[in-house]
Amino acid sequence: MILTKSLLSTVRNCPEKLAVVDGHHRYSYKELEGRTAKLKESLKKLGVKKGERIALLLLNDFRYLELIYGITAMGGIVVPLNTRFSLEENAYVLNDAGVEILYVNKEFLPIVDELKKRVSGIKHVILSENRDAPELNEYSDIHSYEALLDEESVEELVYEDVQEEDVAGLFYTGGTTGRSKGVMLTHKNLLTNALHVALNFEYMESDIYLHAAPMFHLADQASTFAVTLAGGAHTVVRQFTPKDVLHVIEKEQVTAVMLVPTMVNMLLHSADFEKYDTTSLRLMLYGASPMATGLLKKTMTMLPDAQLFQAYGMTEASPVLTLLKPKDHIINGTKEEEKRLASCGKPVQFIEMKVVDEEGNEVPIGQVGEFIARGPNVMKGYWNLPEETSQALRNGWFFTGDMGYKEEKGFFYVVDRAKDMIITGGENVYSVEVEQALSSHPAVLECAVFGVPHEQWGEVVRAAVVLKQDTAASEEEILTSIRPIVSNYKVPKSIEFLSELPKSGAGKILKRVIREEYLNQKTTT
Ligand code: ATP
Ligand code: MG
Repeated sequence: MILTKSLLSTVRNCPEKLAVVDGHHRYSYKELEGRTAKLKESLKKLGVKKGERIALLLLNDFRYLELIYGITAMGGIVVPLNTRFSLEENAYVLNDAGVEILYVNKEFLPIVDELKKRVSGIKHVILSENRDAPELNEYSDIHSYEALLDEESVEELVYEDVQEEDVAGLFYTGGTTGRSKGVMLTHKNLLTNALHVALNFEYMESDIYLHAAPMFHLADQASTFAVTLAGGAHTVVRQFTPKDVLHVIEKEQVTAVMLVPTMVNMLLHSADFEKYDTTSLRLMLYGASPMATGLLKKTMTMLPDAQLFQAYGMTEASPVLTLLKPKDHIINGTKEEEKRLASCGKPVQFIEMKVVDEEGNEVPIGQVGEFIARGPNVMKGYWNLPEETSQALRNGWFFTGDMGYKEEKGFFYVVDRAKDMIITGGENVYSVEVEQALSSHPAVLECAVFGVPHEQWGEVVRAAVVLKQDTAASEEEILTSIRPIVSNYKVPKSIEFLSELPKSGAGKILKRVIREEYLNQKTTT
């Protein structure tokens, strides 16, 4: 069970089938194999050995596929870098992972020298661009991806001494709650996830999957492996903008896409939405952070032909743990069915999941505790972090750091990250519940609820809100609107109105940054 074999099985089954449809780059699985084989040979010539880490600092690019399959076919370890990380953050990752070879897009050329200064281990930088990219003349010490491929004549991809338990990728966590950690995922981890993704989404040769979310993030990469396994085609937008996504959906007749809730929000509120035809979409996957029920209902109304799946998971689980399936997306149903829209669904095929208390004992149905999970897609461990690994992996179970409960029919509900939960006057406040309530106000575009230290109460609840364009609403008006929905102690003590919320590279709202900014502002004023 190794990644190369999964690609080769598709090449064998449908060699002529289109693998990549991206502007004028259109080629078949047989050609993908050829390009991947050449890439692998080029890496060998650069001296890459088994177990070596190779980093990708790339905006969405079809070459991501060739790189993942090429690097792992020779036992190399892919290190996808977060394109929104600062120079410091990515220098940290490159040093932490001990990277010697770095692939970049032209957008990152201006920071290559700085990165090389900070990361002494980097031996080669390769520009993943067309052969004729003018930038190549300016940077004589940078290799050209396409020129390296041109030098090779192999057509067949052959894997070296690679086992399913070997690490295939070091995937850094989102950095939402603190410093990003390198997650070691094996071939088996990634392919188990690919199998259940392919099975549940029923990916087929006729599917055209749009990489709209960043390809460095596992939420999107899960479909990279699953779509390839099924012989579907891949198309990309270099960077997410509602217009580009809508344009590609219409032009390439995209059938499937994964979007994080902030992207869904931008897409549906974009003035361009009505201008494009989105009826080719048969499947939309959302997840990676909580989705407001109001936004979900809007999605169901605006994309009536698309089947919706919610995925819950994390980098450490390659990434999917649970899915809420299309049949559980019912509006105007019974109260129970409506409530289910807030559930993250049930564990996927090979995953067991439990809710436990602080001692690790399973709690009764309906009671909130920490989610723990085990199964073949759970990571081998964190890179270079033995203590964090033994904290996270205990007796074969992975402790997710997410709080939630299970209801009697087996559906799980995430209530909050343990780190975002607020304790005010001894009462637990789950920030997500308050955010759901705030989002139901018609003027609220997005919001974040966070706790700040308080002498008397321990912590108090605060909120940051971005209003929809051309709308107005006062703090009092919004707070009054949620009083019937949530208990008094959960109602934020104040609302900060912001023009946008800080987000991570994967589009997640960075509450720790909002909290810090709020506290800084209060101490300086
Ligand atoms: P870090 O671990 O560095 O703080 P991160 O946890 O955001 O960053 P990821 O692995 O990308 O990094 O994200 C996993 C987390 O995202 C989960 O632990 C959970 O808190 C949240 N999440 C994922 N899917 C969902 C979902 N469907 N609903 C609610 N939250 C989700
Ligand atoms: Mg995490």
